[in-house]
Amino acid sequence: MGTIKRILVTGGAGFLGSHLCERLVGEGHDVICVDNFFTSQKANVSHLLSKPNFELIRHDIVHPLFLEVDEIYNLACPAAPGHYQYNPIKTMKTSVIGSINLLGMARRCNAKIFQASTSEVYGDPEVHPQPESYRGCVNPIGIRACYDEGKRAAETLFMDYHRMNKLRIRICRIFNTYGPRMHPFDGRVVSNFIRQALSNTDITIYGDGSQTRSFCYRDDLVEGFIRLMNAPDEVVFPVNMGNPGEYTIKELAEMIIELTGSKSKLVYKPLPADDPTRRRPDITLAKKHLSWEPKIPLREGLSKTIAWFKSIDPEQFRPPTPNY
Ligand code: NAD
Ligand code: UDP
Repeated sequence: MGTIKRILVTGGAGFLGSHLCERLVGEGHDVICVDNFFTSQKANVSHLLSKPNFELIRHDIVHPLFLEVDEIYNLACPAAPGHYQYNPIKTMKTSVIGSINLLGMARRCNAKIFQASTSEVYGDPEVHPQPESYRGCVNPIGIRACYDEGKRAAETLFMDYHRMNKLRIRICRIFNTYGPRMHPFDGRVVSNFIRQALSNTDITIYGDGSQTRSFCYRDDLVEGFIRLMNAPDEVVFPVNMGNPGEYTIKELAEMIIELTGSKSKLVYKPLPADDPTRRRPDITLAKKHLSWEPKIPLREGLSKTIAWFKSIDPEQFRPPTPNY
């Protein structure tokens, strides 16, 4: 085993954060999980609480926090549209003030710091697939702006702390990721469709279902996070992470119906404002610098996710917003 590090994971009780904590605890690191449980529950990390190298702190990153750490993964931020639009001002504060607080901590401790950014920095892209050099097409006053512009401002802060203070930073632009432990009522397409298919209720397609997304299985992504954090310090530029397989939302619905053997019918609902029409990552940089690419195809990842949804009682998940 390599050196044991003190690692802070903010948003560590969330869907991706809890898997990252699990992985880092398994590697023997001292892991501190900070979360305000806005979109998650303690149950996501309760299996780690008995581990001597895991600590859980309920805290909101908009407020300063003093810890001594070697590495910080900043994942704290609501990620699903229904969640981040619930209190858009708070979403912006989490990305901006939260990043300032953590960057300050990283500077004081000389810690390396990772930002969970997003493909939403590309907005509704005119360039396809999206390379990191593409500057995006974001509506700065729309209903997604609290998230998109918050994450863009966070990237700016990370780069400026790097340029001014030589801070060691990592920026990961995450494309749609799914898997077990995603919140069953987060309103995202994979969780909605699986819940609907398993209960044989109508599958709600927003718009005509021709918009595309690329879906990455969570284990592939968490592997990418760790590779990026451990990459040479020259890798300060943003790196896309996602699965380049591109599917229309209608194709996704049909695949989920097939995999669940569901009797659900497709129904069409209005497309939300500023909903990107297509999205697919160009992962050339991740391949080149991290030798990373996803290994789990959509069909396999969906089967594992469906099996997990069958194993849970969705009613046990605290609904964070009244969006279901
Ligand atoms: P999630 O909602 O399950 O996790 C986010 C976690 O952050 C939750 O546990 C939530 O309670 C916590 N949190 C929110 N605001 C906080 C605050 N102010 N202080 C402390 N904790 C706070 O979502 P996820 O899918 O696990 O996303 C994790 C990160 O990855 C987010 O930053 C998100 O923007 C980014 N991301 C995810 C995806 C995806 O497809 N899952 C895509 C792009 C980016
Ligand atoms: N979507 C849908 N039905 C749903 C939920 C989402 O058709 O029940 C669509 C949504 O309009 C978008 C895509 O699926 O075009 C992905 O939505 P999601 O909220 O999962 O993530 P986004 O990539 O938009 O942030």
